Amino acid sequence: MDFINQQIYTDGSYFVLQIPKYCPQCGAVNNPITNVLNRQNVKTSDKNELIVTASHYCNACDKAHLTVQLEVSDGSYVIKVVYPETQPSSLPEEISTLSPRFVKIYGDSEAAEQRGATELAGTGYRSALEILIKDYALKYIETDKEQVAKLSLSSAIEKYFSGDSFNAAEVVRILGNDYTHWVQQYDFNLSQLKAYLDIFVGHIKMQVMLKDPIVSRRKS
Ligand SMILES: [Zn+2]
Repeated sequence: MDFINQQIYTDGSYFVLQIPKYCPQCGAVNNPITNVLNRQNVKTSDKNELIVTASHYCNACDKAHLTVQLEVSDGSYVIKVVYPETQPSSLPEEISTLSPRFVKIYGDSEAAEQRGATELAGTGYRSALEILIKDYALKYIETDKEQVAKLSLSSAIEKYFSGDSFNAAEVVRILGNDYTHWVQQYDFNLSQLKAYLDIFVGHIKMQVMLKDPIVSRRKS
């Protein structure tokens, strides 16, 4: 997790605290309202250290995250603990508007990944791909929801995509499936699967931008 400094003034003194660069709850660039909850000398080892606990309220998601910080020099602190400890990637707005459920499953999978649960994360990313493809198809390609619902992921990829986007989706599908098999067939790591999923997400973002342009020529 990356951190940035935030200076706050409270109880008659300035604090230079660290905050996560992105909100751990929603992934937005972090500029929270910080409150120092407690400041106390604690005997952490042979020495006493000044410990601050703080809450950081994020306007973007209306939730706070918490930190425990240690004073390293006069009024300057470094983070020792962050809650929640995971950090979701920021996904493009076009994607969160098109498919909120994709964003949720992607975030859950990433949380699993960051806790070391790679098997769960792998199957999660595959499920996320299926949701994104079906939401996209229903909005831009298919009118009949039943048609979309009954397709397997494999058939949906084949029906709606070709070329590079087909290839990217197939990598995620095949490697994602591999996590569900008792005997795994492929030697790969999760970051490779995720890289292809990110390529596919970029493709969908581009499609959404082109199909719903922000301005277009007026029809006369
Ligand atoms: Zn937030």
